[in-house]
Amino acid sequence: MKDTYRHKGMRKRLIDTLHQKGIRDERILQAFDSVPRHLFLDKAFEEWAYTDKAFPIGNKQTISQPFTVAYQTDLLEIRRRDKVLEIGTGSGFQAAILATLGTRVFTVERQEPLYKKTGTLLKKLGFKNIRTFLKDGMDGLPEHAPFDKIIVTAAANEIPTALLSQLQIGGILIIPIGKERQQMCKIIKQSERQYKRIYLDYFKFVPLLKGLNKS
Ligand code: SAH
Repeated sequence: MKDTYRHKGMRKRLIDTLHQKGIRDERILQAFDSVPRHLFLDKAFEEWAYTDKAFPIGNKQTISQPFTVAYQTDLLEIRRRDKVLEIGTGSGFQAAILATLGTRVFTVERQEPLYKKTGTLLKKLGFKNIRTFLKDGMDGLPEHAPFDKIIVTAAANEIPTALLSQLQIGGILIIPIGKERQQMCKIIKQSERQYKRIYLDYFKFVPLLKGLNKS
C-alpha cells in the first residue's frame, strides 16, 4: 500500500491530461492529485494506473476511466457536506474522489466480492465519510434518502424511478442511459413533479443489473 513520489509525479501528468480534455474545476483536479488510483487497481496494472484508461477489477467489472470519473463529478456540481448516493461502488475510486471533495458518500454495490474488497480498502485508506452497502442500487437507498446528489456508474436502459424520488428538490442525478453506448444524462429535480433533463456526451459503461450476486 505504498504511495511514492513516482506515483505522485504520474498523477500530475494525469491531471494535465484531464485539464486538456476540459476538466477545469481546480477542486476536482486537486482530488485526483490526492487519491492514489494505483491502490484501487490490481498490482498488475500499477504502471498504467495513471493513464486515462478503464481497467478490469474482477467480477467482469471495470474501474471507470479517470476522465469519466472527472466528467461525472463535474456534472454533480459538488458542494462540501453534500449527501451523495453512488450506484455501483466497483473499485471505490469514484467514491474516494467524492469523499475527498468533502461530501458524505453512500455507495451501493450488487456484487458481494467487490463490496467486501472495496469496503476493506476504503477503511484501510481512512475514508470515514464513505458508507458502503450491498444492495440492488436500482431501488436506491430509501432509508437514507433524500440525497443532494445521485451518481450512477453503470449503464441504465431507463432512469430508475426510485432514484428520482430519493433526490432532494434542487438535487442533481447523473446517469448514463443506453444499450451499446450511453448518453450521459443530467437531471435536475425542480419540484416534486418537475424534472429538467439535459443529454450530454456519449460513453461506454458496464450494465446496471438487477438483483444481488453473491459469488
Ligand atoms: N464507480 C466504480 C465503477 C465500477 S463499474 C469505480 O469507481 O470503480 C460499475 C459497478 O456497478 C460494478 O461494480 C457493478 O457490479 C455495479 N452495479 C451494476 N448494477 C448494479 C446495481 N443494480 N446495483 C448496485 N451496483 C450495480
